[in-house]
Amino acid sequence: MGGRDATMVLLDENGIRCDGRKVDEPRRIMIKAGGLKNADGSAYIEFGDNKILVGVFGPRDVHPKHMSNTDTGILRVRYHMEPFSVGERKNPAPSRREIEISKVIKEALEPAVMLDKFPRTAVDVFIEVLQADGGTRCAALTAASVALADAGIPMRDLVAAIAAGKVADTVILDVNNEEDQAGQADMPIGYMPNLEKITLLQLDGVLTPEEYKKCVEVGVEGCKLVYDLQKKALHEKYFGNGGE
Ligand code: UDP
Repeated sequence: MGGRDATMVLLDENGIRCDGRKVDEPRRIMIKAGGLKNADGSAYIEFGDNKILVGVFGPRDVHPKHMSNTDTGILRVRYHMEPFSVGERKNPAPSRREIEISKVIKEALEPAVMLDKFPRTAVDVFIEVLQADGGTRCAALTAASVALADAGIPMRDLVAAIAAGKVADTVILDVNNEEDQAGQADMPIGYMPNLEKITLLQLDGVLTPEEYKKCVEVGVEGCKLVYDLQKKALHEKYFGNGGE
């Protein structure tokens, strides 16, 4: 945040963004349920230029055992970026950022999964970011929900995610990497459309209370679009159609 590249035009006089999108237009999103035969559930997502694969394992025994809970199953999430996923090679050691994103994705998924029927077990979610271009936590959360459903984990709802933000004093939907770096605000939102509950909301940048409300509104509407694509991906795998 904070205009690292002051020369970049983030919004032109016709209201068009640096990648040709309108202010309320998401990037191209493609979700596929399944694909990994050794995982209990899996999903692949392309969210603009982000490419992310998710594998789910479990419910299964917990190692180390002292981490298990006698009352309920537990969810564990590992978000990992490949060193080649970004322009400047990422150090393969787990970064603070990856640990933080693993934690927020886990906490965003927890209200959706019903693990009380599986005491002493764990469900493991492995997220591999193959290519990153801004908004990987939202894309990863979206794909992880589909992978959990694909694994047959009982769920109250799917969590759909997308970021709202602000560039050139204008609220936008689906912040890309340039907009994240040179823009004024980035607000990733995870939302359960059926339950009408937000499970992830972060804010990097500065907004007025009015802009904040607008970002939440725009983000929640965006999540509903993402949700339709999640359901379509599951329909395609299990019924051979997109739910039409
Ligand atoms: N990024 C990068 N190198 C890194 C970490 C991140 O180039 O080591 C880029 C990547 O494209 C990522 C973007 O910075 O998507 C924004 O990262 P942020 O921490 O805001 O998380 P995200 O928007 O991916 O959820």
